[in-house]
Amino acid sequence: PSLEHEVARREMEHVSGEFWLYIHAELTKMKEAAVDPDVVRTINRILAMAGDIHMTLRNKQYQLSEDVDAAGDWRKAEAARLTDLVQRRIAFIQNPSNCEKAKKILCNLGKGCGYGCQLHHVTYCLMTAYASQRTLILQSEGWRYAARGWESVFLPLSNTCHSTHGQPSTRWGPGAMTDNTMVLELPIVDSLSPRPRFLPLAIPEDLGDRLTRVSGDPSAWWIGQFVTYLTRPNTDMQAYLENSKQKLGFESPIVGVHVRRTDKVGMEAQFHSLDEYMGHVEDWFNTYEKRHPDIQRRVFLASDDPEVLQEAKRNYPNYIFVSDTEASKTAGLGSRYTDASLRGIVLDTYLLSRCDFLVCTFSSQVCRVGYELMQPLHGDASQWFRSLDDIFYYGGQNAHNWEAVENHDTDEPGEISFRRGDLIGIAGNHWNGFSKGKNTRNGKTGLFPSYKTVNKIERFKMPTYPKKSC
Ligand code: GDP
Repeated sequence: PSLEHEVARREMEHVSGEFWLYIHAELTKMKEAAVDPDVVRTINRILAMAGDIHMTLRNKQYQLSEDVDAAGDWRKAEAARLTDLVQRRIAFIQNPSNCEKAKKILCNLGKGCGYGCQLHHVTYCLMTAYASQRTLILQSEGWRYAARGWESVFLPLSNTCHSTHGQPSTRWGPGAMTDNTMVLELPIVDSLSPRPRFLPLAIPEDLGDRLTRVSGDPSAWWIGQFVTYLTRPNTDMQAYLENSKQKLGFESPIVGVHVRRTDKVGMEAQFHSLDEYMGHVEDWFNTYEKRHPDIQRRVFLASDDPEVLQEAKRNYPNYIFVSDTEASKTAGLGSRYTDASLRGIVLDTYLLSRCDFLVCTFSSQVCRVGYELMQPLHGDASQWFRSLDDIFYYGGQNAHNWEAVENHDTDEPGEISFRRGDLIGIAGNHWNGFSKGKNTRNGKTGLFPSYKTVNKIERFKMPTYPKKSC
């Protein structure tokens, strides 16, 4: 399928998804307001039938994207070629033949936050190294998760270049990209100034069309390549991941559920009940079973709250719950920064990424790491998730705009109008047919119907690296 075909097909999927979100939300509102039991019954019937039609529609869309003209096979092969290309490019810049003469980026793991947040910090460092043709040197000894550093669980980021050779470092600043200094030190992304245009959610110009053709979320796909390179497990970790997968009975079809509780709730995210997560899991399996009847429903459950597993087993007896209970026990506050908790969170994010679908909150970096790692593993896994709160984002990203593809005029309070071509700085999808954003043309902020907009992804000219490395 051509680039235009793929873009049009995904836009059609996007619009039909928004259509169902809108109908479902409006009917649910009507039901909650209704006093007459007959009205409630009628609305329930409409919801059930419309929901079923939507599932059939999704399966037809799946068929069109995967089976017709063997498009799914083509996509898988193209995604594998692209992954191979990008991984070799990263390996090329990370393995200079003369380390002493190679220009470097220096980062450390001192950022005081959880694993997902620290991994994203290193990811931004590696992306910056790639875009500025420098080798990333990561200082990780004394890491709060493992005193021995990154290599206690992952492969070294380089086989040839591990230190700055005592060369003095300069902080990132104006002119950093053209600076001849040997070692550039990066602050955390929030303090980066000036902010380069290659930061997420940008994608490289030279691969822009190919990525857009193969994936519905090229930005997450691109980030996922760097997260994948960084988290290549070392021999011990590889054995641990494989043994755990087998021991826990991790088998497809399986939906990954990540329930982030403890310190996050009330501080950085809202509480969501297990039933809310499971409603989306049920939806996914109901749709899947129209294509593959009589399967065993499996959920991989990851959480920082061990109670969630008990509740799940009690209330959903027709599911098998696969869960590493040790991981959630060591994930709690207080005991978080240990070898065991590191193993636990690496395993949990690895298994989340190996699921067929994810239900989680994108406000959590754990959930986003799972989604990012998932992208390079498939042809197009951009729709294999349901976030209960945010849309996908990268902490410290550049402006993220959606572009209006139709005019929209409204007098409704709290809503915004736009003209075709306007850029809307996106704040979030309310998953009810509406999203919230700021029209960059007039500065007005409010809700708008999501289906009248498309994601606008920045492309930036990044190095393409020598052919032999690709
Ligand atoms: P965020 O706070 O959810 O955005 O993600 P961070 O990764 O920055 O910090 C959360 C930390 O809590 C993780 O790094 C883990 O140490 C722990 N944690 C949260 N959820 C899980 C989980 O599902 N499994 C495990 N093993 N640990 C978790």
